[in-house]
Amino acid sequence: AKAWVLKKHFDGLPKTSDFELKTIELPNLKDGELLLESVFLSVDPYMRPYSRRDMKEGDIMIGTQVARIVESKNPAFTVGAFVVGSKGWRTHFISDGKDIQLLPSNWPESLPKSLALGTVGMPGLTAYFGLLEVCKMKPGETVLVNAAAGAVGSVVGQLAKIGGCKVVGCAGSDDKVAYLKKIGFDEAFNYKTVKSLDEALRKASPDGYDCFFDNVGGEFASIAINQMKKYGRIAVCGAISQYNDSVPQKGPYVQFPMIFKELRMEGFIVSRWSDRRKEGLQALLKWVVEGKVKYHEQITEGFENMPVAFIGMLKGENLGKAIVKV
Ligand code: NDP
Repeated sequence: AKAWVLKKHFDGLPKTSDFELKTIELPNLKDGELLLESVFLSVDPYMRPYSRRDMKEGDIMIGTQVARIVESKNPAFTVGAFVVGSKGWRTHFISDGKDIQLLPSNWPESLPKSLALGTVGMPGLTAYFGLLEVCKMKPGETVLVNAAAGAVGSVVGQLAKIGGCKVVGCAGSDDKVAYLKKIGFDEAFNYKTVKSLDEALRKASPDGYDCFFDNVGGEFASIAINQMKKYGRIAVCGAISQYNDSVPQKGPYVQFPMIFKELRMEGFIVSRWSDRRKEGLQALLKWVVEGKVKYHEQITEGFENMPVAFIGMLKGENLGKAIVKV
């Protein structure tokens, strides 16, 4: 098996030299075990902050894959079936079946299995629970989402539309903005080229925002929070604008709008709803099959390109979910 290890802790934006490709010998299978082969691997923003918190140099990079069972000594799993596992950046691995999940049995043959890492996987669930349980969006409200053309953001916008809301999205290129309009966002703009973010947000929704699904944090959030409506709700999902900072940014100072607009701001991690995972996945799968939720994947070919795909995603090169096809 091949695996990517963290050779050197990242300083700023990760570099390809921070990673090392290693060959690992796998032992023979014991009774109850399976041998799996990764088919698609996910590169996600959380890997950047988690690498510092949870990993030592020399550890295999953390991450999730869609894998095919190639050998089974466990009667509950048949060869050829596909599962989702969180076994890190490796081409092959052994499991006892307890730490992997079979793809839903009603997964249509025509649907890419890689979606189990994106729209019908962890990022889709993040959008689903973040909007329903943290933003508590209601029909007729206005929802703002940033990193809107990414894995989570693109689902947030479409679910908010299904929920009867007006949706404003921000993304970092004109192509991404065009994509957002194509998939039904009411307003979208390129935050990198607007003269004033404050004005662009005001123009997109002069009355302000009821819900703000924040994937970016930092300066963006400090500006957007001032444009919340009274009793607005802010779901603090991510802070990608700060993940590569060696020195923490100062602010935002949010107390004034929080008090005077009586806002509610809540951070969350999607695993809070792991007992409702099935409900979320089935809802997302249904909307995708019905064509109500569209998806786009940025597929990088080749396991050897994992670091390149990861760095590209952090730099905003992905439209939709960033995936590596082994
Ligand atoms: P994306 O597919 O959205 O990819 C990351 C995107 O972030 C890039 O494409 C880029 O888009 C944008 N970005 C990068 N740097 C900056 C920056 N400095 N300022 C603004 N935007 C930036 O990733 P995901 O959808 O997987 O994740 C989105 C967010 O959600 C992340 O913050 C992530 O950590 C968080 N998350 C949180 C979870 C939770 O449980 N709380 C679970 C999953 C994700 P652009 O071109 O628009 O700049």
